[in-house]
Amino acid sequence: MTSNTSVPPKKLSEMRKDLYLWFKKNGRHELPWRKTENSYQILISEIMLQQTQVERVKPHWENWITKWPNIKSLASAPLNEVINAWSGLGYNRRSVNLHRTAQHIEAQYDSKVPIDEKNLLELPGIGPYTAAAIRCFSANKKAYPADTNITRVIARAFFGLQNSSPDTRKIIQKQLEEIEPSRNFRKHYLALMDLGALLCQSRSPSCDLCPWQNNCHWLERGKPSLQTSKKKSQPFESTTRYARGQIVEHLRTNPTRTTSEIRRLLPSNHKKNTAIYLETLAKEGLIEKNKTGWSLPS
Ligand code: SF4
Repeated sequence: MTSNTSVPPKKLSEMRKDLYLWFKKNGRHELPWRKTENSYQILISEIMLQQTQVERVKPHWENWITKWPNIKSLASAPLNEVINAWSGLGYNRRSVNLHRTAQHIEAQYDSKVPIDEKNLLELPGIGPYTAAAIRCFSANKKAYPADTNITRVIARAFFGLQNSSPDTRKIIQKQLEEIEPSRNFRKHYLALMDLGALLCQSRSPSCDLCPWQNNCHWLERGKPSLQTSKKKSQPFESTTRYARGQIVEHLRTNPTRTTSEIRRLLPSNHKKNTAIYLETLAKEGLIEKNKTGWSLPS
């Protein structure tokens, strides 16, 4: 590994300046959740962005904020409406967690999203990254919201590595602390995030457009170990996630269905696991059993 843990402060300051100039012209300032510091709206965007791409999140986020503009309205919404509104975002479990989170915040924090890290981490579906992002992007807190884009940029520019890994987490965190400004944390992390998402992409980085091209160790080393072949993944239709999504989607448009009806709708390789899928979804609160079959929660 090319270690570079002692970059002089003057150099770091120059790199920040270059980054911010690039961000001002090229950042994704048009994203609707970038135009607000409302902690509820940022919470919704961060949960949606956990496993869904930006372009798909945009219309969902706008509809969501119009329908449920605050914690109170979301907390009092029927759960089945919340699950229905999540259609198209995938990983439906997030909708149930979000509803529980809203109810928890209404009951415990007078409907105001807490900004304390410990309180945020107690909410369903909120892990260290999401808590840091909410704190940094809504309240400009020093919180290190380092997503995969940010850690990749740091691994490349400062350590000459193709990507970050669990082994390099600590040194990357230390480097992030070193390059961090003394204020304007929000702008700083959004700029780093956009550099990773727009230029320093995983498989085809646009180094010739990068504001750090003269300071990047990985570029200087000739971009070693760039893997261009994509790992073969199993077809989506064969995954449990697909089958679970199909069941929830079916119950969004059909009030109640029996186990046999649901089994019939699933592809042959999933039929034998129908009962397991249904029980697990019910346990997670996404569906419920009634006298005649299965439905979304009332
Ligand atoms: S020069 Fe290339 S590899 Fe280095 S930070 Fe910029 S985009 Fe990433």
